[in-house]
Amino acid sequence: MQMISTVAEMLALAQRWTTGESVGLVPTMGYLHAGHLSLARAARQECAQVVVSIFVNPTQFGPREDLSRYPRDLPRDLGLLEQAGVDYVFTPTADDVYPPGFACYVDPSGPVVERLEGASRPGHFRGVATVVAKLFQLARPHSAYFGQKDAQQVAVIRRLIADLHFVLTLRVLPTVREPDGLAMSSRNAYLSPDERQAATILYKALREARRLIERGEQNTDILRAALARVIASEPRAHLDYADVCDPHSMLPLARIEPEKSALLALAARVGPVRLIDNFLRHPNGVWNGD
Ligand code: AMP
Repeated sequence: MQMISTVAEMLALAQRWTTGESVGLVPTMGYLHAGHLSLARAARQECAQVVVSIFVNPTQFGPREDLSRYPRDLPRDLGLLEQAGVDYVFTPTADDVYPPGFACYVDPSGPVVERLEGASRPGHFRGVATVVAKLFQLARPHSAYFGQKDAQQVAVIRRLIADLHFVLTLRVLPTVREPDGLAMSSRNAYLSPDERQAATILYKALREARRLIERGEQNTDILRAALARVIASEPRAHLDYADVCDPHSMLPLARIEPEKSALLALAARVGPVRLIDNFLRHPNGVWNGD
């Protein structure tokens, strides 16, 4: 496994990719868990060269968010990536990615970034789209791997690829969960044992909404209310949003239509941590997310 610690080195490496050799990119912010590693392993299976980036991207954090105390453990991350058979780990500094005079952001607009995470975290997706566009330019991957856990991020990246004509395959992998259902997240490290217990309420709420849909419930107001009711049953959890929307446009759905996909999306605060989770229902009634 080779370390690539500067933008210049990454550019030079990518110039040497030979035609026909597939390159997979897995963007991360580090403090890796089994969710990240599932992306790295999928890339390993599908690509000749695998690049994992570890970069805590300052532009996607709001002024009151946790940039400075975002968890980091590079030595541990490198051990896990070595075991997963990754070829290159790209760890640029913020000054290298955003040098003095930096001026050109990728700024998505419209419903895909206005609602849900976009409403709660103004500017977040501008930071995400900007850094992901940069990583695509730098690593020149044929496939890029993202987790369904961040469903709105997936919708934004899908638009980024289409709108800026990136020629690459977007691979979206299922959410990896703890045995009790909590979606794995680097931020789970901030939870106290009590809060960690309470955090399973997001999964329970999503299971309940799924159960209602499987029993034939199509009214999305009833489903949103059911999600909110389960979250409210846990005194340590504070709902930010509970929604049923189209997973591509992120616009709210009025009804569950059997032949259309639907995203159940939740965000709630538990103690100091803001948690997100979702279930995705495909048109054929197959679920992704549990
Ligand atoms: P992050 O380090 O939080 O920026 O996440 C890096 C990538 O890992 C993103 O594509 C996330 O969606 C994905 N990811 C994070 N948590 C999970 C999880 N529990 N299961 C699957 N993918 C995940």
